[in-house]
Amino acid sequence: MMRIDVITIFPDMFAPVLGASILKRAEEQGCVRYVVHNLRDFASDKRRTVDDRPYGGGPGMVMKPEPIFDAVEAIERICHGSAPNRAGCQILLTAPQGERLSQPLAHELSRLEHLIIICGHYEGVDDRIREGLADRSLSIGDYVLTGGELPAMVLVDTVVRLIPGAIGHAEATADESFADGRLEYPQYTRPPSFRGMEVPAVLRSGDHERISLWRKLQSMARTVSQRPDLVASGNGKQGGITS
Ligand code: SAM
Repeated sequence: MMRIDVITIFPDMFAPVLGASILKRAEEQGCVRYVVHNLRDFASDKRRTVDDRPYGGGPGMVMKPEPIFDAVEAIERICHGSAPNRAGCQILLTAPQGERLSQPLAHELSRLEHLIIICGHYEGVDDRIREGLADRSLSIGDYVLTGGELPAMVLVDTVVRLIPGAIGHAEATADESFADGRLEYPQYTRPPSFRGMEVPAVLRSGDHERISLWRKLQSMARTVSQRPDLVASGNGKQGGITS
């Protein structure tokens, strides 16, 4: 079972997301266990301070290193004892400057036993957390959010649905967008005709070979037209578009 610890100053934000849909089901099925920590519990003063003014001046506040190091080390002691076996564990810092989260990376993380996710806030975290504590910094895209809570939820969702057993039908994740470096083909359900738009006849033909070929071609055409960067970069576990 994977364990995911989240360190945040807004622990209440997580219950609605972790307690719904696939993420809830995955925990009920015993695929994953979530533990959300209030960073302020690791502050050393009465006011539970976790931030301070930036050296060098400038607007806003920066998250202090001590409570975050203490929180991670306390979690590691509980999970791995005094001689931490860190092989299956990664400490992930949410940061707009980090490596971009992608489906291949989500697959890699889904094979680990333990993730510790640090949510930044304010102007970000003291850089010694990136330098001396985190295994990697992760960004969910080239835009800036108020805090690391939403990125942490995006990360948890994309990783947990890839854990074997989390989704009822395992092939769902093998065939979807980005799994093979391309976008998914168009999907339809009933009714066959809706406001003048028809479901392609091939999908109603019952001919599985033709359906499979049609889907492959649609998937390639969509990728080329909507995301030519995927074709150029060969992104995906099999290296871009393959037949
Ligand atoms: N001053 C920082 C900068 O310019 O890069 C932005 C800090 S942001 C307001 C506060 C926190 O939100 C960050 O420390 C990080 O934890 C989180 N965050 C914001 N945007 C993010 C993104 N695109 N991906 C991952 N985390 C993000």
